[in-house]
Amino acid sequence: MTPPRPPAAPPADLLVRAAAVHTLVPGEPARRAIAVTGDRITALAADPHGLDALAGPATEVVDAPHATVLPAFDDTHTHLILAGHSVHGVPVHRAADLSGFLALIRERAARTPAGAWIRTTVNWQEVNLAEQRMPTTEELDGATADHPVLVRRGAYNMVLNSAALRLAGITAATPDPPGGVIERAPDGRLTGRLINTATELVERVLPRPGLDERIDGLRAASADYAATGIGTVRDCLVPVEDLDVLRAARDRGALAVRVRALVSGFAVRTPEEVDALLDRVDAWRAAGHEDDRLSVWGVKFGIDGGFEAGALEEPYQGQPCYHGRLLWEPKELADAVDRVVGRGLRVGVHAWGDRGLRTLLDVYEDVLARRPGLPTGTLVVEHGGLARADQRARAVALGIPVTVQHPLLHDGALTQQRAWGAERTGALFPLREWLDEGARLSAGSDFPVGPYGAMVSVWGMTTRATVAGVLGAEHAIDRAEAVALHTVNAARLTGESAERGSLRPGALADLTLWPTDPLSCPVDELRELLPERTVVGGRTVHRR
Ligand SMILES: [Zn+2]
Repeated sequence: MTPPRPPAAPPADLLVRAAAVHTLVPGEPARRAIAVTGDRITALAADPHGLDALAGPATEVVDAPHATVLPAFDDTHTHLILAGHSVHGVPVHRAADLSGFLALIRERAARTPAGAWIRTTVNWQEVNLAEQRMPTTEELDGATADHPVLVRRGAYNMVLNSAALRLAGITAATPDPPGGVIERAPDGRLTGRLINTATELVERVLPRPGLDERIDGLRAASADYAATGIGTVRDCLVPVEDLDVLRAARDRGALAVRVRALVSGFAVRTPEEVDALLDRVDAWRAAGHEDDRLSVWGVKFGIDGGFEAGALEEPYQGQPCYHGRLLWEPKELADAVDRVVGRGLRVGVHAWGDRGLRTLLDVYEDVLARRPGLPTGTLVVEHGGLARADQRARAVALGIPVTVQHPLLHDGALTQQRAWGAERTGALFPLREWLDEGARLSAGSDFPVGPYGAMVSVWGMTTRATVAGVLGAEHAIDRAEAVALHTVNAARLTGESAERGSLRPGALADLTLWPTDPLSCPVDELRELLPERTVVGGRTVHRR
Protein backbone atom coordinates (compact mmCIF):
# COMPACT_ATOMS: atom_id res chain seq x y z
CA MET A 1 0.00 0.00 0.00
CA THR A 2 1.42 3.41 -0.90
CA PRO A 3 1.51 6.06 1.84
CA PRO A 4 -1.18 8.74 1.53
CA ARG A 5 -0.07 11.60 -0.69
CA PRO A 6 -0.02 15.06 0.84
CA PRO A 7 -2.80 17.28 -0.48
CA ALA A 8 -1.83 18.93 -3.74
CA ALA A 9 -0.36 22.39 -3.13
CA PRO A 10 1.02 24.85 -5.64
CA PRO A 11 4.83 24.93 -5.64
CA ALA A 12 6.38 27.53 -3.37
CA ASP A 13 7.90 30.70 -4.80
CA LEU A 14 10.41 30.80 -1.95
CA LEU A 15 11.61 27.99 0.27
CA VAL A 16 14.03 28.74 3.10
CA ARG A 17 15.91 26.09 5.07
CA ALA A 18 17.52 27.61 8.15
CA ALA A 19 19.05 26.82 11.53
CA ALA A 20 15.94 28.24 13.19
CA VAL A 21 12.67 29.80 12.15
CA HIS A 22 11.34 31.64 15.20
CA THR A 23 7.64 31.86 14.45
CA LEU A 24 6.80 33.88 17.62
CA VAL A 25 3.61 31.83 17.88
CA PRO A 26 3.26 31.29 21.66
CA GLY A 27 4.48 27.89 22.78
CA GLU A 28 5.68 26.86 19.33
CA PRO A 29 9.25 25.54 19.07
CA ALA A 30 11.61 26.86 16.40
CA ARG A 31 11.04 25.41 12.91
CA ARG A 32 13.68 24.70 10.28
CA ALA A 33 11.90 25.41 7.00
CA ILE A 34 9.40 27.94 5.71
CA ALA A 35 7.63 28.17 2.35
CA VAL A 36 6.13 31.24 0.69
CA THR A 37 3.70 31.32 -2.23
CA GLY A 38 2.59 34.65 -3.63
CA ASP A 39 2.38 37.09 -0.75
CA ARG A 40 1.62 34.47 1.90
CA ILE A 41 3.41 31.96 4.10
CA THR A 42 2.13 28.55 3.03
CA ALA A 43 3.92 26.08 5.29
CA LEU A 44 6.45 25.57 8.07
CA ALA A 45 8.28 22.41 9.04
CA ALA A 46 10.41 21.14 11.91
CA ASP A 47 12.70 19.32 9.49
CA PRO A 48 14.86 21.43 7.15
CA HIS A 49 13.76 19.17 4.28
CA GLY A 50 10.20 18.85 5.47
CA LEU A 51 8.89 21.15 2.73
CA ASP A 52 10.99 19.86 -0.15
CA ALA A 53 7.84 18.53 -1.82
CA LEU A 54 6.78 22.15 -2.34
CA ALA A 55 9.87 22.97 -4.42
CA GLY A 56 9.11 23.27 -8.11
CA PRO A 57 11.31 24.29 -11.04
CA ALA A 58 10.64 27.99 -10.41
CA THR A 59 11.05 27.89 -6.63
CA GLU A 60 13.85 29.98 -5.17
CA VAL A 61 15.45 27.71 -2.60
CA VAL A 62 17.58 29.38 0.06
CA ASP A 63 19.81 26.94 1.89
CA ALA A 64 21.00 28.82 4.95
CA PRO A 65 21.95 26.23 7.56
CA HIS A 66 23.42 28.85 9.89
CA ALA A 67 20.78 31.53 9.46
CA THR A 68 17.79 32.47 11.59
CA VAL A 69 14.40 33.56 10.28
CA LEU A 70 12.25 36.05 12.19
CA PRO A 71 9.19 38.05 11.22
CA ALA A 72 10.08 41.36 9.56
CA PHE A 73 10.07 44.13 12.16
CA ASP A 74 7.70 47.06 12.43
CA ASP A 75 9.05 50.48 13.36
CA THR A 76 5.92 51.62 15.16
CA HIS A 77 6.89 55.26 15.48
CA THR A 78 9.06 56.72 12.77
CA HIS A 79 9.09 59.36 10.06
CA LEU A 80 9.49 57.95 6.57
CA ILE A 81 8.21 61.16 4.98
CA LEU A 82 10.94 63.17 6.73
CA ALA A 83 13.52 60.52 5.87
CA GLY A 84 12.49 60.81 2.23
CA HIS A 85 12.96 64.56 2.32
CA SER A 86 16.41 64.40 3.87
CA VAL A 87 17.91 61.25 2.36
CA HIS A 88 19.65 63.41 -0.28
CA GLY A 89 20.47 66.29 2.10
CA VAL A 90 24.01 67.38 3.01
CA PRO A 91 25.09 64.39 5.17
CA VAL A 92 26.00 66.38 8.28
CA HIS A 93 25.16 63.36 10.47
CA ARG A 94 28.62 62.10 9.45
CA ALA A 95 30.45 65.18 10.80
CA ALA A 96 32.44 64.81 14.02
CA ASP A 97 32.87 68.55 14.64
CA LEU A 98 31.65 71.89 13.35
CA SER A 99 34.50 72.45 10.91
CA GLY A 100 33.65 69.14 9.26
CA PHE A 101 29.97 70.07 9.38
CA LEU A 102 30.57 73.43 7.65
CA ALA A 103 32.98 71.89 5.13
CA LEU A 104 30.21 69.55 3.97
CA ILE A 105 27.89 72.51 3.42
CA ARG A 106 30.63 74.47 1.60
CA GLU A 107 31.27 71.45 -0.62
CA ARG A 108 27.58 71.14 -1.53
CA ALA A 109 27.36 74.89 -2.17
CA ALA A 110 30.23 74.64 -4.66
CA ARG A 111 28.12 72.38 -6.90
CA THR A 112 24.71 73.98 -6.30
CA PRO A 113 23.42 76.91 -8.41
CA ALA A 114 23.47 80.20 -6.51
CA GLY A 115 20.13 80.97 -4.91
CA ALA A 116 19.05 77.33 -4.57
CA TRP A 117 18.29 76.04 -1.07
CA ILE A 118 20.86 73.86 0.64
CA ARG A 119 19.43 71.49 3.24
CA THR A 120 21.01 69.00 5.60
CA THR A 121 20.12 65.53 6.78
CA VAL A 122 18.14 65.65 10.01
CA ASN A 123 19.38 62.64 11.98
CA TRP A 124 22.11 64.19 14.11
CA GLN A 125 22.50 65.80 17.56
CA GLU A 126 24.65 68.82 18.24
CA VAL A 127 25.82 67.45 21.61
CA ASN A 128 27.40 64.57 19.72
CA LEU A 129 29.64 67.07 17.82
CA ALA A 130 33.00 67.93 19.43
CA GLU A 131 31.81 71.47 20.21
CA GLN A 132 28.45 70.19 21.52
CA ARG A 133 26.50 73.02 19.92
CA MET A 134 24.61 74.03 16.78
CA PRO A 135 26.33 76.10 14.11
CA THR A 136 25.46 79.81 14.14
CA THR A 137 24.06 82.01 11.41
CA GLU A 138 27.47 83.68 11.03
CA GLU A 139 29.20 80.32 10.62
CA LEU A 140 26.67 79.24 8.00
CA ASP A 141 27.12 82.59 6.21
CA GLY A 142 30.84 81.77 6.16
CA ALA A 143 30.10 78.48 4.39
CA THR A 144 28.01 80.22 1.74
CA ALA A 145 26.44 83.63 1.34
CA ASP A 146 25.07 82.72 -2.11
CA HIS A 147 22.54 80.09 -1.02
CA PRO A 148 19.82 79.96 1.61
CA VAL A 149 20.96 77.25 4.05
CA LEU A 150 18.57 75.25 6.20
CA VAL A 151 20.26 73.17 8.86
CA ARG A 152 17.66 70.91 10.35
CA ARG A 153 17.86 68.57 13.32
CA GLY A 154 14.87 66.29 13.81
CA ALA A 155 11.43 67.70 13.17
CA TYR A 156 11.42 70.68 15.51
CA ASN A 157 14.82 72.41 15.32
CA MET A 158 16.41 74.49 12.58
CA VAL A 159 19.28 76.91 12.09
CA LEU A 160 19.21 79.28 9.10
CA ASN A 161 21.85 81.40 7.48
CA SER A 162 21.11 85.06 6.76
CA ALA A 163 19.87 84.42 3.22
CA ALA A 164 17.37 81.85 4.49
CA LEU A 165 16.18 84.13 7.31
CA ARG A 166 15.57 86.85 4.72
CA LEU A 167 13.55 84.52 2.48
CA ALA A 168 11.48 83.40 5.48
CA GLY A 169 10.81 87.03 6.35
CA ILE A 170 12.23 86.63 9.86
CA THR A 171 13.85 89.68 11.45
CA ALA A 172 14.86 90.59 14.99
CA ALA A 173 11.43 92.23 15.27
CA THR A 174 9.45 89.07 14.40
CA PRO A 175 7.51 87.88 17.48
CA ASP A 176 7.68 84.24 18.59
CA PRO A 177 4.68 82.36 17.15
CA PRO A 178 2.46 80.50 19.66
CA GLY A 179 4.26 77.33 20.70
CA GLY A 180 7.52 78.33 19.02
CA VAL A 181 10.81 80.10 19.66
CA ILE A 182 12.81 82.40 17.39
CA GLU A 183 16.04 82.35 19.36
CA ARG A 184 17.86 85.60 20.05
CA ALA A 185 21.27 86.37 21.54
CA PRO A 186 21.34 88.42 24.79
CA ASP A 187 21.79 91.57 22.64
CA GLY A 188 18.59 90.76 20.71
CA ARG A 189 20.23 89.62 17.46
CA LEU A 190 18.86 86.49 15.76
CA THR A 191 20.94 83.35 16.30
CA GLY A 192 19.28 81.70 13.32
CA ARG A 193 17.77 78.99 15.52
CA LEU A 194 14.06 78.17 15.24
CA ILE A 195 12.30 75.78 17.60
CA ASN A 196 8.93 73.97 17.44
CA THR A 197 6.19 75.88 15.61
CA ALA A 198 8.64 78.62 14.58
CA THR A 199 9.91 76.13 11.98
CA GLU A 200 6.64 76.60 10.10
CA LEU A 201 7.81 80.10 9.14
CA VAL A 202 10.41 78.37 6.97
CA GLU A 203 8.33 75.43 5.77
CA ARG A 204 5.96 77.78 3.98
CA VAL A 205 8.69 79.40 1.87
CA LEU A 206 10.60 76.23 0.99
CA PRO A 207 10.37 75.24 -2.66
CA ARG A 208 8.14 72.22 -3.11
CA PRO A 209 10.03 69.29 -4.62
CA GLY A 210 8.36 67.67 -7.64
CA LEU A 211 6.60 64.32 -7.47
CA ASP A 212 9.46 62.42 -9.11
CA GLU A 213 11.91 63.83 -6.60
CA ARG A 214 9.62 62.92 -3.71
CA ILE A 215 9.18 59.36 -4.98
CA ASP A 216 12.91 59.04 -5.48
CA GLY A 217 13.45 60.12 -1.87
CA LEU A 218 10.86 57.62 -0.58
CA ARG A 219 12.40 54.86 -2.68
CA ALA A 220 15.84 55.45 -1.14
CA ALA A 221 14.58 56.00 2.38
CA SER A 222 12.26 52.97 2.42
CA ALA A 223 15.06 50.78 1.05
CA ASP A 224 17.22 51.96 3.94
CA TYR A 225 14.57 50.80 6.41
CA ALA A 226 14.29 47.41 4.72
CA ALA A 227 18.08 47.01 4.84
CA THR A 228 17.88 47.02 8.64
CA GLY A 229 15.16 44.35 8.85
CA ILE A 230 12.14 46.62 8.97
CA GLY A 231 9.16 45.62 6.83
CA THR A 232 6.50 48.05 8.07
CA VAL A 233 6.74 51.66 9.20
CA ARG A 234 4.14 53.57 11.12
CA ASP A 235 4.82 57.10 9.92
CA CYS A 236 3.75 59.38 12.72
CA LEU A 237 3.57 62.66 10.84
CA VAL A 238 2.18 62.48 7.32
CA PRO A 239 0.90 65.81 5.94
CA VAL A 240 -2.53 65.00 4.48
CA GLU A 241 -1.44 66.11 0.99
CA ASP A 242 1.40 63.58 1.14
CA LEU A 243 -1.03 60.65 1.15
CA ASP A 244 -1.08 61.07 -2.63
CA VAL A 245 2.72 61.08 -2.76
CA LEU A 246 2.80 57.81 -0.81
CA ARG A 247 0.14 56.39 -3.11
CA ALA A 248 2.13 57.31 -6.21
CA ALA A 249 5.26 55.80 -4.65
CA ARG A 250 3.38 52.60 -3.83
CA ASP A 251 1.86 52.42 -7.33
CA ARG A 252 5.31 52.78 -8.89
CA GLY A 253 6.74 50.01 -6.71
CA ALA A 254 8.98 52.49 -4.90
CA LEU A 255 7.94 51.57 -1.35
CA ALA A 256 10.13 48.79 0.00
CA VAL A 257 8.16 48.72 3.27
CA ARG A 258 4.50 48.80 4.23
CA VAL A 259 3.34 52.19 5.45
CA ARG A 260 0.74 52.89 8.13
CA ALA A 261 0.16 56.63 8.07
CA LEU A 262 -0.72 58.94 10.94
CA VAL A 263 -2.00 62.08 9.27
CA SER A 264 -0.59 65.18 10.92
CA GLY A 265 -3.03 67.09 13.08
CA PHE A 266 -0.30 69.54 14.11
CA ALA A 267 -1.63 72.38 11.99
CA VAL A 268 -5.27 72.12 13.08
CA ARG A 269 -6.87 73.45 16.24
CA THR A 270 -10.48 74.58 15.84
CA PRO A 271 -13.35 72.10 15.31
CA GLU A 272 -13.77 73.46 11.77
CA GLU A 273 -10.09 72.85 10.98
CA VAL A 274 -10.24 69.33 12.41
CA ASP A 275 -13.34 68.56 10.35
CA ALA A 276 -11.75 69.92 7.18
CA LEU A 277 -8.71 67.68 7.74
CA LEU A 278 -10.92 64.66 8.38
CA ASP A 279 -12.95 65.38 5.24
CA ARG A 280 -9.76 65.14 3.19
CA VAL A 281 -8.71 61.90 4.88
CA ASP A 282 -12.18 60.39 4.42
CA ALA A 283 -12.24 61.37 0.75
CA TRP A 284 -8.84 59.81 0.17
CA ARG A 285 -9.85 56.58 1.86
CA ALA A 286 -13.24 56.47 0.14
CA ALA A 287 -11.46 56.65 -3.21
CA GLY A 288 -10.10 53.16 -2.52
CA HIS A 289 -6.44 54.10 -2.34
CA GLU A 290 -5.65 51.80 0.58
CA ASP A 291 -4.27 48.30 0.42
CA ASP A 292 -2.04 46.14 2.60
CA ARG A 293 1.01 48.15 1.49
CA LEU A 294 -0.35 51.57 2.35
CA SER A 295 -3.13 52.57 4.70
CA VAL A 296 -4.14 55.33 7.07
CA TRP A 297 -3.76 54.32 10.72
CA GLY A 298 -5.18 57.52 12.19
CA VAL A 299 -4.38 61.08 13.14
CA LYS A 300 -1.44 62.44 15.16
CA PHE A 301 -1.45 65.26 17.68
CA GLY A 302 1.16 66.43 20.19
CA ILE A 303 0.41 67.56 23.71
CA ASP A 304 3.88 68.78 24.70
CA GLY A 305 7.38 69.41 23.37
CA GLY A 306 10.40 67.07 23.28
CA PHE A 307 13.85 67.10 24.87
CA GLU A 308 13.75 70.85 25.51
CA ALA A 309 10.02 71.46 25.86
CA GLY A 310 8.43 68.29 27.22
CA ALA A 311 5.98 69.28 29.98
CA LEU A 312 7.27 68.37 33.45
CA GLU A 313 5.73 68.34 36.92
CA GLU A 314 9.00 69.67 38.41
CA PRO A 315 10.97 72.49 36.78
CA TYR A 316 13.74 72.07 34.24
CA GLN A 317 17.29 71.79 35.54
CA GLY A 318 18.66 75.24 36.31
CA GLN A 319 15.42 76.93 35.11
CA PRO A 320 13.21 77.12 38.23
CA CYS A 321 10.36 78.84 36.36
CA TYR A 322 10.32 76.60 33.28
CA HIS A 323 8.22 73.41 33.19
CA GLY A 324 8.25 72.82 29.43
CA ARG A 325 5.31 73.51 27.14
CA LEU A 326 1.81 72.13 26.93
CA LEU A 327 0.58 72.70 23.38
CA TRP A 328 -3.18 72.23 24.00
CA GLU A 329 -5.84 73.07 26.52
CA PRO A 330 -7.02 69.62 27.63
CA LYS A 331 -10.67 70.33 26.78
CA GLU A 332 -9.76 71.49 23.26
CA LEU A 333 -7.61 68.44 22.62
CA ALA A 334 -10.36 66.14 23.93
CA ASP A 335 -12.78 67.82 21.49
CA ALA A 336 -10.36 67.32 18.60
CA VAL A 337 -9.67 63.67 19.51
CA ASP A 338 -13.40 63.04 19.89
CA ARG A 339 -14.07 64.33 16.38
CA VAL A 340 -11.39 62.01 14.96
CA VAL A 341 -12.62 58.87 16.72
CA GLY A 342 -16.16 59.84 15.71
CA ARG A 343 -15.06 59.24 12.11
CA GLY A 344 -13.75 55.77 12.98
CA LEU A 345 -10.09 56.76 12.94
CA ARG A 346 -7.52 56.15 15.65
CA VAL A 347 -5.48 58.80 17.41
CA GLY A 348 -1.84 58.87 18.51
CA VAL A 349 -0.76 61.76 20.73
CA HIS A 350 2.86 62.65 21.46
CA ALA A 351 3.50 62.98 25.22
CA TRP A 352 7.07 63.28 26.48
CA GLY A 353 7.22 64.73 30.00
CA ASP A 354 5.37 63.43 33.07
CA ARG A 355 3.03 66.44 33.11
CA GLY A 356 2.42 65.93 29.39
CA LEU A 357 1.52 62.27 29.95
CA ARG A 358 -0.69 63.03 32.97
CA THR A 359 -2.58 65.66 31.00
CA LEU A 360 -2.97 63.35 28.01
CA LEU A 361 -4.41 60.61 30.23
CA ASP A 362 -6.91 63.21 31.52
CA VAL A 363 -7.82 63.95 27.90
CA TYR A 364 -8.19 60.26 27.03
CA GLU A 365 -10.35 59.64 30.13
CA ASP A 366 -12.58 62.50 29.01
CA VAL A 367 -12.93 61.01 25.50
CA LEU A 368 -13.59 57.50 26.85
CA ALA A 369 -16.29 58.90 29.15
CA ARG A 370 -17.95 60.53 26.14
CA ARG A 371 -17.69 57.37 24.07
CA PRO A 372 -18.22 54.26 26.16
CA GLY A 373 -17.42 51.15 24.16
CA LEU A 374 -14.70 52.79 22.08
CA PRO A 375 -12.57 49.84 20.92
CA THR A 376 -9.33 49.33 22.86
CA GLY A 377 -6.41 50.53 20.79
CA THR A 378 -8.24 53.54 19.36
CA LEU A 379 -6.35 55.98 21.62
CA VAL A 380 -2.57 55.61 21.73
CA VAL A 381 0.19 57.31 23.71
CA GLU A 382 3.20 58.09 21.52
CA HIS A 383 6.43 57.89 23.61
CA GLY A 384 5.04 58.36 27.13
CA GLY A 385 8.71 59.07 27.87
CA LEU A 386 8.70 60.03 31.53
CA ALA A 387 6.00 57.67 32.79
CA ARG A 388 5.63 57.69 36.56
CA ALA A 389 4.11 54.73 38.43
CA ASP A 390 0.68 56.33 38.88
CA GLN A 391 0.51 57.31 35.21
CA ARG A 392 1.53 53.81 34.11
CA ALA A 393 -1.22 52.38 36.30
CA ARG A 394 -3.76 54.68 34.66
CA ALA A 395 -2.65 53.83 31.13
CA VAL A 396 -2.73 50.10 31.88
CA ALA A 397 -6.15 50.33 33.52
CA LEU A 398 -7.51 52.22 30.50
CA GLY A 399 -5.96 49.69 28.08
CA ILE A 400 -4.15 52.50 26.25
CA PRO A 401 -1.30 51.24 24.02
CA VAL A 402 2.05 53.02 24.31
CA THR A 403 4.74 53.21 21.64
CA VAL A 404 8.31 53.43 22.99
CA GLN A 405 11.56 54.36 21.21
CA HIS A 406 14.90 53.53 22.80
CA PRO A 407 16.89 55.10 19.90
CA LEU A 408 15.48 58.44 20.99
CA LEU A 409 17.02 57.99 24.44
CA HIS A 410 20.22 56.62 22.92
CA ASP A 411 21.02 59.67 20.82
CA GLY A 412 19.25 62.26 22.93
CA ALA A 413 20.63 61.32 26.35
CA LEU A 414 23.14 64.18 26.59
CA THR A 415 20.64 66.71 25.29
CA GLN A 416 18.07 65.46 27.76
CA GLN A 417 20.47 65.41 30.73
CA ARG A 418 21.27 69.07 30.14
CA ALA A 419 17.60 69.96 30.28
CA TRP A 420 16.29 67.49 32.87
CA GLY A 421 19.31 66.25 34.82
CA ALA A 422 20.44 62.65 35.25
CA GLU A 423 17.59 61.19 37.33
CA ARG A 424 14.76 62.08 34.98
CA THR A 425 16.78 61.17 31.87
CA GLY A 426 17.59 57.70 33.26
CA ALA A 427 13.92 57.22 34.16
CA LEU A 428 12.77 57.62 30.52
CA PHE A 429 11.10 54.60 28.93
CA PRO A 430 10.65 52.33 31.97
CA LEU A 431 10.13 49.27 29.78
CA ARG A 432 10.62 46.64 32.51
CA GLU A 433 7.92 48.27 34.63
CA TRP A 434 5.55 48.80 31.72
CA LEU A 435 5.74 45.11 30.73
CA ASP A 436 5.52 43.79 34.31
CA GLU A 437 2.47 45.96 34.88
CA GLY A 438 0.72 44.64 31.78
CA ALA A 439 1.01 47.56 29.39
CA ARG A 440 0.29 47.20 25.66
CA LEU A 441 3.73 48.27 24.44
CA SER A 442 5.24 48.34 20.99
CA ALA A 443 8.60 49.68 19.84
CA GLY A 444 10.00 52.00 17.23
CA SER A 445 12.78 54.49 16.64
CA ASP A 446 11.43 57.99 16.16
CA PHE A 447 14.03 58.41 13.41
CA PRO A 448 15.31 61.04 12.53
CA VAL A 449 16.38 61.43 16.15
CA GLY A 450 17.90 58.04 16.87
CA PRO A 451 19.48 55.28 14.80
CA TYR A 452 16.73 53.03 13.50
CA GLY A 453 16.96 49.36 12.70
CA ALA A 454 15.58 46.10 13.97
CA MET A 455 18.53 44.92 16.02
CA VAL A 456 20.03 48.25 17.10
CA SER A 457 16.71 48.79 18.85
CA VAL A 458 16.75 45.33 20.46
CA TRP A 459 20.34 46.04 21.59
CA GLY A 460 19.29 49.34 23.11
CA MET A 461 16.24 48.02 24.94
CA THR A 462 18.21 45.13 26.44
CA THR A 463 21.35 47.08 27.42
CA ARG A 464 19.98 50.63 28.02
CA ALA A 465 23.13 51.90 26.29
CA THR A 466 23.14 55.58 25.24
CA VAL A 467 25.64 58.22 24.11
CA ALA A 468 25.88 59.11 27.83
CA GLY A 469 26.61 55.51 28.89
CA VAL A 470 24.20 52.94 30.31
CA LEU A 471 21.17 54.74 31.78
CA GLY A 472 18.51 53.18 33.97
CA ALA A 473 19.75 49.58 33.63
CA GLU A 474 16.87 48.45 35.86
CA HIS A 475 14.42 49.34 33.06
CA ALA A 476 15.98 46.86 30.58
CA ILE A 477 13.95 44.03 29.08
CA ASP A 478 15.11 40.75 27.59
CA ARG A 479 15.67 40.00 23.93
CA ALA A 480 12.57 37.93 23.29
CA GLU A 481 10.49 40.71 24.81
CA ALA A 482 12.23 43.34 22.71
CA VAL A 483 11.67 41.34 19.52
CA ALA A 484 7.99 40.94 20.40
CA LEU A 485 7.60 44.72 20.77
CA HIS A 486 8.59 45.12 17.10
CA THR A 487 6.56 42.16 15.76
CA VAL A 488 3.66 40.54 17.61
CA ASN A 489 2.85 43.63 19.67
CA ALA A 490 3.37 45.97 16.73
CA ALA A 491 0.87 44.07 14.59
CA ARG A 492 -1.64 44.32 17.44
CA LEU A 493 -1.12 48.10 17.50
CA THR A 494 -2.01 48.36 13.83
CA GLY A 495 -4.90 45.91 14.20
CA GLU A 496 -3.23 43.37 11.92
CA SER A 497 -2.55 40.45 14.26
CA ALA A 498 -4.46 38.12 11.95
CA GLU A 499 -2.21 39.06 9.02
CA ARG A 500 1.24 39.89 10.36
CA GLY A 501 3.56 39.82 13.35
CA SER A 502 4.22 36.09 13.59
CA LEU A 503 5.06 33.38 11.06
CA ARG A 504 2.02 31.19 10.44
CA PRO A 505 0.57 29.50 7.36
CA GLY A 506 -1.80 32.00 5.76
CA ALA A 507 -0.09 35.08 7.21
CA LEU A 508 1.54 37.68 5.00
CA ALA A 509 5.09 36.64 4.10
CA ASP A 510 6.95 39.42 5.92
CA LEU A 511 10.17 37.91 7.17
CA THR A 512 13.85 38.51 7.77
CA LEU A 513 16.86 36.23 7.46
CA TRP A 514 19.75 36.83 9.90
CA PRO A 515 23.34 35.54 9.67
CA THR A 516 23.24 34.57 13.37
CA ASP A 517 20.49 34.02 15.92
CA PRO A 518 19.58 37.45 17.32
CA LEU A 519 17.96 35.76 20.33
CA SER A 520 21.19 34.09 21.46
CA CYS A 521 24.22 35.76 19.81
CA PRO A 522 26.58 37.86 22.00
CA VAL A 523 24.56 40.96 22.88
CA ASP A 524 27.09 43.43 21.49
CA GLU A 525 26.76 41.87 18.03
CA LEU A 526 23.17 43.12 17.90
CA ARG A 527 24.22 46.74 17.58
CA GLU A 528 25.57 46.31 14.05
CA LEU A 529 23.62 43.22 13.06
CA LEU A 530 21.92 43.50 9.68
CA PRO A 531 19.73 40.99 7.86
CA GLU A 532 20.84 38.93 4.88
CA ARG A 533 17.42 39.43 3.42
CA THR A 534 14.16 41.20 4.10
CA VAL A 535 10.96 39.90 2.50
CA VAL A 536 7.71 41.89 2.48
CA GLY A 537 4.59 40.23 1.10
CA GLY A 538 6.71 37.53 -0.50
CA ARG A 539 8.81 40.10 -2.36
CA THR A 540 12.51 40.32 -1.48
CA VAL A 541 12.97 44.03 -0.80
CA HIS A 542 16.51 43.78 0.53
CA ARG A 543 19.28 41.30 -0.13
CA ARG A 544 22.83 41.64 1.13
ZN1 LIG B 1 7.95 61.14 16.27
